Amino acid sequence: MKKRAFITGITGQDGSYLAEFLLKQGYDVYGMVRRTSTLNFERIRHIQDQITLIPGDMLDQTSVTNALRDIRPQEVYNLAAQSFVQTSWVQPVFTGDVTALGVTRLLDAIRTVDPEIRFYQASSSEMFGKVQEVPQRETTPFYPRSPYGVAKVYGHWITVNYRESYNLHATSGILFNHESPRRGYEFVTRKVTYTAAKIKLGLANELRIGNLDSQRDWGFAGDYVEAMWLMLQQDKPEDYVIATGTTHSVEKLLTVAFSALDLDWKKYTVQDERFMRPAEVDLLVGDPAKAGMQLGWEPRVSFEQLIQMMVEADMQLLKAQHNL
Ligand code: NDP
Ligand code: GDP
Repeated sequence: MKKRAFITGITGQDGSYLAEFLLKQGYDVYGMVRRTSTLNFERIRHIQDQITLIPGDMLDQTSVTNALRDIRPQEVYNLAAQSFVQTSWVQPVFTGDVTALGVTRLLDAIRTVDPEIRFYQASSSEMFGKVQEVPQRETTPFYPRSPYGVAKVYGHWITVNYRESYNLHATSGILFNHESPRRGYEFVTRKVTYTAAKIKLGLANELRIGNLDSQRDWGFAGDYVEAMWLMLQQDKPEDYVIATGTTHSVEKLLTVAFSALDLDWKKYTVQDERFMRPAEVDLLVGDPAKAGMQLGWEPRVSFEQLIQMMVEADMQLLKAQHNL
């Protein structure tokens, strides 16, 4: 019998990579999709005939519970979220409903439908926010700095609580920023690689950007989804930090992306107040030692390789879109 996995957020960056990975492992893959007036399946179109899409919404308990009843999966990966930090100040209540309470809806559905289901929660380094320790590890206290970060702290603790209250195999993966050619255009890496490629092709002449000094520990999403799966294969559910252990500034990101195209970022970049945040997370750098030791996981793609990969993909995408 093939194992069945259910992924919420399958249309997102991580959902698409995780679905590909689980298919390669021989799973039957099911994904939750919410109803939209236009389809947004770009990231999963290439595997759409190999997966089963189930309509539902993290705001709707009935659809969440029924999905589990119908599929009866062995593993559930909760990747659905309002995942953009800046939007979380504009829609704080909605962010809390999806990103925080959504986790409880799913955990409670597991408890009632089949407590043997193994559960992965997509927790975030944004929970560390105003960092209390450098580098950040599983034991570092949280200090979130945005409604998104606060919602993720709730999601983390409700996962721990259901594990301890009901003995569920529930794991919280504390993942640092991870990117790819499938990253949303609003995130800084993709915004930079896409706009730099546009400038190179004469389709744009400037990049408007916010804080150049903030630093992130950026890894490749394809590497990170493997860690999610490894966590659910452990006998004992625990929480893990997944990171590269290195950090780079937004300014360094600009240098690497623009120089990959033989451009000088200083000539094209304008700082714009609109992209500054009410409260900032200045420095994130994770310590993935526990994941290395217990899961045997380590990142394969370096920061420079990642940005190069994204720039090349955006050049190809734009050339195809504009017949260049
Ligand atoms: P994306 O924003 O690319 O994907 C989010 C997914 O959630 C989409 O499939 C989206 O569906 C779905 N979704 C949003 N709201 C709902 C809802 N109400 N009901 C059902 N589905 C919903 O995020 P990523 O793939 O980058 O991230 C995956 C998870 O990991 C998220 O929880 C994120 O917060 C977390 N995370 C990500 C990090 C990163 O660097 N990428 C770092 C740490 C944590 P739709 O396509 O319809 O919008
Ligand atoms: P986050 O870590 O989930 O918030 O990922 P982002 O890619 O959205 O932001 C990473 C960092 O880049 C944050 O500290 C932002 O303040 C900073 N940043 C600087 N300019 C921009 C910008 O134009 N867009 C975004 N999204 N972030 C920016």
